[in-house]
Amino acid sequence: MLERDIIVVGAGVAGLSFALYAAKRFPNRSICVLSKGEFFDSNSYYAQGGIAAVMDQHSDSFKAHIKDTLVAGDGLSDPEIVKLVVEEAPLRMQDLMDWGVNFDRTSDILELAREGGHSAKRVLHIRDHSGRSIVEALLAACVSKDNIQLHKNQVVQSLSLDSKGACIGLTVASGEEAIEYRSSNTVLATGGAAYLYRKTSNPEAATGDGLALAIQAGAKMRDLAFVQFHPTVFPRKGGRDFLISEALRGFGAILRNKEGEDFMYKYHPLGSLATRDVVSRAIYQEIAQDSRDHVSLDLRHLDQRKLRAKFPTILNIILEEFPHIDFKKDLIPVTPAAHYFCGGIATDAWGKTSVPGLWAIGEVAGTGLHGANRLASNSLLEALVFAKRAASKLNLSLASTVQQSSAPEQFHYPDASKTIEKLRHLMFEKVGIYRSKEGLRQAFEAINTFISEAQISPEIQTQDIILHNMLSVAKAVVEDSLAQKENKGAFFLSDLAENPHC
Ligand SMILES: Cc1cc2nc3c(=O)[nH]c(=O)nc-3n(C[C@H](O)[C@H](O)[C@H](O)COP(=O)(O)OP(=O)(O)OC[C@H]3O[C@@H](n4cnc5c(N)ncnc54)[C@H](O)[C@@H]3O)c2cc1C
Repeated sequence: MLERDIIVVGAGVAGLSFALYAAKRFPNRSICVLSKGEFFDSNSYYAQGGIAAVMDQHSDSFKAHIKDTLVAGDGLSDPEIVKLVVEEAPLRMQDLMDWGVNFDRTSDILELAREGGHSAKRVLHIRDHSGRSIVEALLAACVSKDNIQLHKNQVVQSLSLDSKGACIGLTVASGEEAIEYRSSNTVLATGGAAYLYRKTSNPEAATGDGLALAIQAGAKMRDLAFVQFHPTVFPRKGGRDFLISEALRGFGAILRNKEGEDFMYKYHPLGSLATRDVVSRAIYQEIAQDSRDHVSLDLRHLDQRKLRAKFPTILNIILEEFPHIDFKKDLIPVTPAAHYFCGGIATDAWGKTSVPGLWAIGEVAGTGLHGANRLASNSLLEALVFAKRAASKLNLSLASTVQQSSAPEQFHYPDASKTIEKLRHLMFEKVGIYRSKEGLRQAFEAINTFISEAQISPEIQTQDIILHNMLSVAKAVVEDSLAQKENKGAFFLSDLAENPHC
């Protein structure tokens, strides 16, 4: 059994920045950061657009950022949380710069981009690979700290609770071995769960493990029904579907249907720059009418030199798939895909969950910022703000409760890989952009059937742990969807709508 002062599960922006804030506050305490796979296998690494923050009070204002966030959240965001996140944003951007992040600038002035749902240009970025550059800077800063240890390929399997229900550590599957860690402060920074869906912008790591661990530990959850679909994902035959950032539409790219029509104005006055829920549902309808599986993104009218300079990663990926594409003449196929979990483990304004000793930050947390729908580029910001807040509230004077706990039960599923794919199809078809009560009930039954196939087993198999977690989260999403009384933001149940198509 290993004892650590602080255990952080997750090496994305939330986990890494938390480790840095905690290391500064407690320079003589041990901080252990665990990552399920490689350190670059996180949603953070793939983030493109950047981070929203009001950096110039002349051309923008906190009031406007707050308003845009509340509008996107469709009445379900917590206004106090929105205010504190927006107001702390410029300080957190300064922290990133101090850790070595070089945001794009023109003549020393920060370049700010506009994205869907934002009323001003306020997204700090590093070309179209903001996440990669930020994660690299944070990793380098963590490596330079003596009291931060980073461990990859460690799959956290269960949380350990004492007799009063407080979290006292966790068990990790490291290869075929189970390792127990003890700590009075366990921080879940495990990211989202959009890999639960067949079409997704997320990497394989995003199976909602932290959500499942918290559900199994009895933590309070919130807003799990609200799964944001990103409207413009580029379907790739040879690999993972690839997100085409909203920043491209902010730069002037236009969505067109089969007839070549700029169709978004039929659905919203902001056209292609309406919020993601609106654009995703509009595309879904256009696709249904077109009997195609995609709409198109038009870059033909844009300044091609600037386009290549600003979006090199995106254009290269498209060129890998279609080597002969000419962005001046050809259109790019795009389709909506599951992207972001707006809800999560319910926390207070400091990242504390309802389970003593357990904290949650980043996409795994349900802070109340996003409500029914996340505003673009507010999630990396949320991760940083709550990482700082949680680190400032940790109480390490609490004695670490070293206790023996019984080994967690291991579940084995007859054909875990196949069941994972079946579950992902089920979630996309029945618990996706458009839902119905009947479809949700069918999904519920199918999930319970998958769960009933599990057998207790002495062997540790990573696929079994992951499927077990995915099933816990899928069931909770369906249950929360069935409990909704109104269509809000990213959630749409045809039974609750006057017009079942919008
Ligand atoms: C393609 C794409 C583009 C995006 N663009 C933007 C953007 O421009 N701006 C923005 O604000 N947001 C963007 N987002 C959303 C944003 O990237 C995420 O919400 C954010 O990065 C989440 O950070 P995180 O640290 O909470 O989780 P992640 O970065 O996902 O990190 C999760 C970590 O937890 C670890 N983990 C998970 N389960 C376990 C386990 N069982 N055991 C051990 N470790 C585990 C993983 O290995 C990983 O290290 C984008 C997302 C995607 C997918």
